[in-house]
Amino acid sequence: GCPGRLPELKGNIRVLCRLRPGTPSSLVSVEPGPGGTVTTHYRGRHRRFRLDWVFPPDASQEEVFRELEPAVLSCLHGYSVCIFTYGQTGTGKTYSMEGPPEDPGIAPRALQSLFREMGARGQHCVTLSMVEIYNEAVRDLLAPGPPERLAVRQGLEGQGGIQVAGLTHWDIPNLETLHQMLRVGRSNRATAATAMNQHSSRSHALVTLTLRAASPPCAPDSTGTLHLVDLAGSERARKAGAASAPRGDPDGARRLREAQTINRSLLALGGVMAALRAHRPHVPFRDSQLTRLLQPALGPGTTAVLLLQVGARSFACQAPTALPPPAPRRS
Ligand code: ADP
Ligand code: MG
Repeated sequence: GCPGRLPELKGNIRVLCRLRPGTPSSLVSVEPGPGGTVTTHYRGRHRRFRLDWVFPPDASQEEVFRELEPAVLSCLHGYSVCIFTYGQTGTGKTYSMEGPPEDPGIAPRALQSLFREMGARGQHCVTLSMVEIYNEAVRDLLAPGPPERLAVRQGLEGQGGIQVAGLTHWDIPNLETLHQMLRVGRSNRATAATAMNQHSSRSHALVTLTLRAASPPCAPDSTGTLHLVDLAGSERARKAGAASAPRGDPDGARRLREAQTINRSLLALGGVMAALRAHRPHVPFRDSQLTRLLQPALGPGTTAVLLLQVGARSFACQAPTALPPPAPRRS
């Protein structure tokens, strides 16, 4: 058989939670570890959520990655894995996903771990693509020219689902090239953000790594995919300061539109996960560009990990209802 197979991961949605350091315990308290809980204290109400894993505020980047590494490495066995960071702006999504250079987060650790493993086993062709979704527009962050809006199309039946017309896929021979390309993508994201007077927390960023076994040792078609998704902030329209903006304030109108599309796509993601979890025949993938794009990565036999970020900002303007239901799990 194939060593290192991880059947227990197949077809799972795991929800993990990480508490940002400095979050007052008067707002939220946790029981860390597997099957841990998060209890929110808001306006005299206490609500308790059970999750697959809860990281306390002092959890290190390494501890977080340790929980994700088996899922990441399952890509080398042809699995499709999607890792999301979810939460309000300022709760640590980008810290967890990217991290500062001196204390790297999930993405750099995942890529390093994959390349280390491939170095030992060889025979994989790696390609990279990187997109940003802002106001339902999908942009290629690694296009040779300026990032242009791309069309997401439903592929022909039985021909591999979704196609993003014109999306560039780069061959990645080694880890150095990969890090170089990621830097390019990140700086394109920042450039686009500045040009449009927007903050990067208003857009979703998706890094996709495709790992094709050159001589498949395990399966006839063992192409694995890893999606690393830094989601846009999950704050409500009201929080974005837009609903109360005076009429005719173009900036307020822009912020409102942003907040509405972000909420719609995060809602769509939640709807897709809920439908998958309940084995509903209809999964509403088409409700947003985010879920359309990720449809192949969220279908049957895939693994999704949602890292829920919680911090004081989760409570800034609203009751903390943005926490998803506990531990959804597909069998
Ligand atoms: P988001 O991407 O959700 O908007 P950030 O990742 O930018 O949030 O985090 C907001 C701030 O909090 C940043 O200054 C970041 O460095 C800091 N921060 C978040 N999580 C941690 C953590 N676990 N340890 C130390 N600093 C953190
Ligand atoms: Mg961020």
